[in-house]
Amino acid sequence: MDFSITPEQEQLYASMKRLAAEVVAPGAAQRDKDGRWDPDVWKQLAAAGVAGMPIPEDLGGSGGSIIDCCLVNEALAEGGHDGGLGLSLGAHWVIGSVPIWLHGTPELQQRWLPGLCDGSLIGAWASTEPEAGSDAGAIRTTAVREGDDFVLNGTKIFITNGPIADVCTVLAKTEKGPSAFVVDTTTPGFVVGRELDKMGCRSSPTAEIHLQDCRVPATSMLSVEGEALWRVAFECFSWERTVMMAATIGGMRATIDGTIRYAKERQQFGKPIAHFQAVAHKLAEMEINYQVCRNAVYKAAWLKQTGKDHMLEASVAKAITGKLVVENALEAIQIHGGYGYLRDFPAERALRDAKLTSIGGGTTEIQKMIISRLLLA
Ligand SMILES: Cc1cc2nc3c(=O)[nH]c(=O)nc-3n(C[C@H](O)[C@H](O)[C@H](O)COP(=O)(O)OP(=O)(O)OC[C@H]3O[C@@H](n4cnc5c(N)ncnc54)[C@H](O)[C@@H]3O)c2cc1C
Repeated sequence: MDFSITPEQEQLYASMKRLAAEVVAPGAAQRDKDGRWDPDVWKQLAAAGVAGMPIPEDLGGSGGSIIDCCLVNEALAEGGHDGGLGLSLGAHWVIGSVPIWLHGTPELQQRWLPGLCDGSLIGAWASTEPEAGSDAGAIRTTAVREGDDFVLNGTKIFITNGPIADVCTVLAKTEKGPSAFVVDTTTPGFVVGRELDKMGCRSSPTAEIHLQDCRVPATSMLSVEGEALWRVAFECFSWERTVMMAATIGGMRATIDGTIRYAKERQQFGKPIAHFQAVAHKLAEMEINYQVCRNAVYKAAWLKQTGKDHMLEASVAKAITGKLVVENALEAIQIHGGYGYLRDFPAERALRDAKLTSIGGGTTEIQKMIISRLLLA
């Protein structure tokens, strides 16, 4: 098995990490404190071709492979220390743009992809509802056919990029079942509701969306009417479980490196705390966890990229990363002692950002359900 990446991919990683260190890292702590999305950071990343990474070049994108997307997301997280940026970028890519690329008509692709790829537009995805989270099939939002249009009514919650999105793919039930509609967010009846005050990833804006007699053309439907769940949504989830997990991996690397630096500098009992075996072993455990997660994520991404069955591996990657990223963040705080408990140090923010990994895009319990079903089939 070949785990090497090409020299171009190594270069891509290094340049993205550098870019994030220059552009993303400086204001990350303040954006977290304020719960603020910064459009200037986005513009600078977009200027470097980041916004359209997964989309083919002939549709306006950068034509990155799945592994390229993982590397970019990982590098930006490692260099930028901003979990919210990883969340918003990941959502823009894998649930905001990819469904339009893979399932949109040429007209939908032409209308939306160039702007999504150059970063002048931002994408979102709205399936979750107050009463339908893990059970995505239980959505109540309706899409009723009226002539050449569908009229959407319902409420969505937890929508990443909701307050800033220009286009949002909305899951709604027609008489044939769950269907996906690409909605221009300036359409009358597409109402951005309350912005949600989150524990972590606070630089990524999240909102409720209300669909109030929101009329969209029937031509804005993706894929097959009534089959959006398994044709579109489940496919998005496998992108989430690979490409979005890579951002978590980059964050884990940054946390380990920051903690190693601290353990070497902090002196107690006349020597650096890194010299105490209890501390050194914690660092070793953190590295073991990181390697396990990184291997799992890239194995799933490689299977997906090569067109092989990857459902089990993607769920394994998400479940293990969701658990170990929190474990690592807790150990980072422990090694920082009282300072780790303060908001002044990045370890505290890393813990708050880390917790989302086991919830968003399918909880750990749902990953275990998928894994056990595949094992018992
Ligand atoms: C910051 C953030 C960003 C998000 N972004 C988006 C987005 O952009 N678009 C979007 O559509 N959604 C988004 N989500 C929604 C996210 O995907 C859901 O929160 C997630 O799928 C869980 O749904 P829920 O919160 O309703 O929890 P529930 O489904 O109510 O689950 C509650 C608990 O019950 C457990 N549980 C539920 N069913 C089972 C079962 N069958 N077996 C065992 N345990 C079970 C869960 O694992 C969990 O622990 C986001 C969420 C967050 C927090």
